[in-house]
Amino acid sequence: MNAPISRMMLAIKKTQPQPGLTWQPQTRVPGVGPGDVLVAVTHAAICGTDRHIYEWDQWSADRVPLGVTVGHEFVGRVVAIGDAVTRTQIGKRVSAEGHIGCGQCEPCRCGNGHICERVDILGIDCDGCFAQFVKVPQENIWPVHDDIPDHIAAVFDPLGNAMHTVMAAGVSGRSVLITGVGIIGMMAVGIARAAGAGTILVTDTNPDRLALALELGADLAYQAGDPDWPADARKATQDQGPQVLLEMSGHANAIRQGLGALRNGGTAALLGLPAKPVTLDLPNDIIFKGATVIGINGRRMFETWYQVESFLLAGRIQLDRIITHQLDMQDFEKGVKLMQSGEAIKVVLKIPHDEE
Ligand SMILES: [Zn+2]
Ligand SMILES: [Zn+2]
Repeated sequence: MNAPISRMMLAIKKTQPQPGLTWQPQTRVPGVGPGDVLVAVTHAAICGTDRHIYEWDQWSADRVPLGVTVGHEFVGRVVAIGDAVTRTQIGKRVSAEGHIGCGQCEPCRCGNGHICERVDILGIDCDGCFAQFVKVPQENIWPVHDDIPDHIAAVFDPLGNAMHTVMAAGVSGRSVLITGVGIIGMMAVGIARAAGAGTILVTDTNPDRLALALELGADLAYQAGDPDWPADARKATQDQGPQVLLEMSGHANAIRQGLGALRNGGTAALLGLPAKPVTLDLPNDIIFKGATVIGINGRRMFETWYQVESFLLAGRIQLDRIITHQLDMQDFEKGVKLMQSGEAIKVVLKIPHDEE
C-alpha cells in the first residue's frame, strides 16, 4: 500500500561539536518499522531548543548526539505506514508529539508519558523533522483539522507548552504574572486571556515584545530590569500580588522576583530553563506563602493537544503576530540569526518536495 519514496532526502543535522548546523542533501530516508509512520514534512518550525543546539551550549553538548537530524515541530502528510499501523492512513495531514514515551514506566502507564523516565525526544535523541521525511511512532501522530492552516499546525508543540503551563496553573478569574514574553510566554498571554484570566502582567527586557504582549491581551507590561516593577505589580493586584506566576524566562532574577511577587496561596508554574542552579528564598517566597509550585515539561498527551485544537477552532488564539517569518528550508541559518537578534519570534521553514 505504501507509495514509492526516493531513498535520499534533504536534512539539517548537527554534525560538529561547535556552533552551527549542517545542510545534508544526501541523507537516507528513514526506514519504517511495523508501528511507524513516515511523514513528508511540509512545514517545520524553529524552536528555542533548536537554537540551543545550533549555538551548542552546555546542555546541547551534554545531551545531543552528533549526526542527529534536528527539529521537532512540524506538519506534513503521511506517505508510508508500517504493517501494524491502524491510527492513520497514507495521505492524512498530521503533526506529532515529539516526546516519545517508553510506554512501560510508571508515568507512562499512569497517562503521564510527557514525563516518561526514558523519553526520547524527536530532533534531540532521535532524528527529527528538519528533513523532507520524518519517522514517528503511530502513538505520537496527531491528525490536523482541515480548518487549521499549515503554518499554525507546525507550532502545535510550543503552543502546547504554553497551553499546558496556563492550564496547569489554573488562571480563570485570577491575576496572572508572566515573566518572559518570548515565543511561549507570548503564546501564553493570548491563551491566558482566552482562558478567562483576570489582570495579566508581563515582564521582559525587550520593549518591542512588551508592546506586542499588550496588543495580544496583557494589561500591564514592565521592563524586567526596572527595580520598581514588583512594587508596581503588587499595587495593580489589590496590593496582594498576582495569584498566578507563569515563569517563561529561565532567568534567575525573574524567577526570584516572580516568586517574590506571588500572592500568599498563589500558584507558580515554571517552564523557563535556568542555565545553572538558582538560589531561592524558600521560607519567604514559597513555604510561609503556602505557594504551589509546578514544574512544566512538554505537553500532556493528548489532553493539551485537544485543548490547543479547540482554542484554535474557536478563533480564540491569534498567532499571526507571533509567527513572524516563513522561510525556505535552505534559509534555516537566517532563521536562527533572526531569532538570535530578537527580530523574529517564531520562524517556520517551508520544506521543498520536487514531485508535488
Ligand atoms: Zn519546541
Ligand atoms: Zn515511560
